[in-house]
Amino acid sequence: MRSLVIAIDCDDVLVATTPYFISAYNNAFGTKVSVAQSRDESEEIWAASRDLRLERLDELTKTDEYFKIAPTSEESAVLQELSSDHSLHLVTARRREEHERTKRMIDRDLPGVFTSLDFGGTDGSKGEVCQRIGADVLIDDSIYNFEDALQRGMTKADMILFGDYPWNTDIPESLEGIRRCRDWDEVREAVYDIANAE
Ligand SMILES: [Mg+2]
Repeated sequence: MRSLVIAIDCDDVLVATTPYFISAYNNAFGTKVSVAQSRDESEEIWAASRDLRLERLDELTKTDEYFKIAPTSEESAVLQELSSDHSLHLVTARRREEHERTKRMIDRDLPGVFTSLDFGGTDGSKGEVCQRIGADVLIDDSIYNFEDALQRGMTKADMILFGDYPWNTDIPESLEGIRRCRDWDEVREAVYDIANAE
């Protein structure tokens, strides 16, 4: 079995970020935004202009509830197991203001699991980070990041599309046949498949 360098996205892969934002936003502002509408820009749905919505969402990143979001114990167990055979790197595009909290979250929930926390996605591209760290596998929920990684030399066989989300239902032709994992048990299986492939 090969020991792999694995780049793992944070939001909606390692932790369920969007469901938190949607539920916290609805509770605070009396709206009924659904997860399916989370990427919708409509002012009506959010009962706010774009600027106000972004301001409100920003406030929601400063709450204790946001900091409390964590992987489940089953998910943590899979990550622990993977880290004993492979080198795991958190690769996130979280904003600068969230870096410190993200580090604290990882120290609290997954100590020793990650070889590095890489915030290169904040200003650059994830494909670029994957190239820099020599990633064999990218696990992400964003189609855009895979298209980027594809252009930088990764192949579809090195990609794991995480989750079955409204924003990653449609697969572009360039990514047809990409492996999709709906949870971390499926990720474990996929990673060992890749590690054991010729
Ligand atoms: Mg994500």
